[in-house]
Amino acid sequence: MAPSSGEAREFDPEAVRVKYQEERDKRLWEGRAAIRDLTGDDEFAAYRRDPFTRFIERDAVHDDVDVAIVGAGLAGVVVGAKLREAGLARIRLIDEAGGIGGTWYWNRYPGVMCDVESYIYLPMLEEMGYIPKTRYAFGDEIRQHLDSIARKYDLVDDALLHTRVERTEWDERASRWIIRTDRGDEIRARYVVMAPGILNLMKLPAIPGMELFAGTSFHSARWDYEYTGGSPDGRLTNLADKVVGIMGTGASAIQCVPPLAESAKQLFVFQRTPSAVGVRGNRPTEEDFAEDLEPGWQFARMENFQAVMLGLPVEADLTDDGWTHHFSGVYSPRRAPGASVEEMMRDLEVFDYGVMEEHRSRIDELVRDPEKAEILKPYYRYLCKRPCFHDEYLQAFNSPNVTLVDCPGGIERVTERGLVVDGQEFELDCLIYATGFEAEMTPFARRAGHDIVGRGGVTIAEKWEDGMSSLHGMMTRGFPNMFIMPAPGQQGVVTVNHTLISVIGAEHIAATVAQLVARGVEVTDVSREAETAWTEEILAGYVEGATAMLAACTPSRINNEGNPDAVSPRNGQYPGGYFGFKQVLAEWREQGLPGLECDEPFVAP
Ligand SMILES: Cc1cc2nc3c(=O)[nH]c(=O)nc-3n(C[C@H](O)[C@H](O)[C@H](O)COP(=O)(O)OP(=O)(O)OC[C@H]3O[C@@H](n4cnc5c(N)ncnc54)[C@H](O)[C@@H]3O)c2cc1C
Repeated sequence: MAPSSGEAREFDPEAVRVKYQEERDKRLWEGRAAIRDLTGDDEFAAYRRDPFTRFIERDAVHDDVDVAIVGAGLAGVVVGAKLREAGLARIRLIDEAGGIGGTWYWNRYPGVMCDVESYIYLPMLEEMGYIPKTRYAFGDEIRQHLDSIARKYDLVDDALLHTRVERTEWDERASRWIIRTDRGDEIRARYVVMAPGILNLMKLPAIPGMELFAGTSFHSARWDYEYTGGSPDGRLTNLADKVVGIMGTGASAIQCVPPLAESAKQLFVFQRTPSAVGVRGNRPTEEDFAEDLEPGWQFARMENFQAVMLGLPVEADLTDDGWTHHFSGVYSPRRAPGASVEEMMRDLEVFDYGVMEEHRSRIDELVRDPEKAEILKPYYRYLCKRPCFHDEYLQAFNSPNVTLVDCPGGIERVTERGLVVDGQEFELDCLIYATGFEAEMTPFARRAGHDIVGRGGVTIAEKWEDGMSSLHGMMTRGFPNMFIMPAPGQQGVVTVNHTLISVIGAEHIAATVAQLVARGVEVTDVSREAETAWTEEILAGYVEGATAMLAACTPSRINNEGNPDAVSPRNGQYPGGYFGFKQVLAEWREQGLPGLECDEPFVAP
């Protein structure tokens, strides 16, 4: 697809609105968002088990460190590396996974890759002297890269893996955090950094009869290669005589349907809502890619992408891909000189329609069966669901062994033999839940998956029950010496390239800790005034009625499954955008961390 001119083709706004609403209403049924609780010990707990690394018994660890980091994904690794650079000696990464990588440890389904350009998604390329092999890297390369960073910065030997943090509690008398795990460890830490992930909670739908299925079933984030054979980049050698069903057509399914179609005897794709699938254009990295790169090139490239995504002027769009062609026109619409708000909104609707028409035409070009093509067409506005990009997904539906099952009203039930949709049973040997993750907007306390107990015995879940209050989204009063890595819905900023905000957050935390250490500060906490002022800035950015457009969207993770108003405005974003946020953080550090109370005795409220 060429960059969209935004020109409408026979655009009839009323007809389009009606069509979008009809499609949305088909999918907005009660109970659509119901999910299994995977935290218990029932039969569904098995879906969470780590299939990739053998569990090895070890003795419980009791020690005292400078920093404990909960989560060894991209964010945990980068903040660990930056803290190491800042001179911190004893750092312990802790993760439930059996290895480093977080998302990229858990998600090993065939075809898994980043959907943001690898030269800006893989962190710390310059520090590592590494250039990704392709424009969009496969998961294994990303995981190995994160592992290499952790090794280079000496974070692996002390990491506690296959270790779930169950409680993090502030010890007022010792001025230490005490981290207790499911392996009996008791780690005392001067600082704690929470990096539990943004898409770390697998979503398994609650469909009647799931426990009855007699075949093999697993979530795409715990791929069972023992059953399917093959590897993330190879043919799935055991599926040649198997009938496979995949539930879901979001970002994960888009990537793993093509290899499944190639390998399985028969593949049923159960689709509730189609994704908008744009051109990927993946290719090997040009041999001369690194030739003219100046020091600082990676961060500059990340910011160039961010500027383009925000519609800010740049000399050149260095990434020049499906993201940069369409996103800013929809996300940051321009107001023509002299145009009213209504006119701007009308232009936006026209532009959005043009973008979606390009996606729909692409389906007509690539999918031979017109009936399948129609079912695959997304009828909603462009950013209602995270856009997807792939060069082989749509073509997979031309294979005679691939059947697309349209189920906007969901799956009726699961039986011993397979799935029932509209009264028809589909018999399966294997059922793959490519049903995604709880939204990034999931409250932090739930994403962290354990009790975090601050001063006076108050948990973070209690403190933030009615919405967040923080300083910069990374520190919060009553939880001294604790930092939280930035995430969407967390009083910071949202970026499509999550690495950018992770790097900014990691550098900020490391520089803040370095200042505190240099000043000999033992305990620091956010002042009430500083926290109130930041939270007020977030609330000031909240525009009444801003959720109306989201509410009109097809239900998805992005609009809280059709219920955007349920998200507290306190969990919003900093209104100054990414560049404003970066500046605020830099100035705050330059000014010597105003708004922090250092080594002041705690007075219970
Ligand atoms: C398939 C897939 C593709 C993606 N592609 C992109 C992309 O192209 N671009 C992009 O910007 N983003 C992408 N994302 C989002 C991705 O999650 C982030 O980019 C990034 O990897 C998040 O890193 P993280 O360290 O914050 O979290 P994670 O990678 O989720 O790591 C968090 C870790 O914390 C651990 N943890 C959590 N709680 C506990 C606890 N109580 N005890 C012990 N351990 C705990 C988890 O086990 C996990 O390993 C993708 C996500 C998925 C699922």
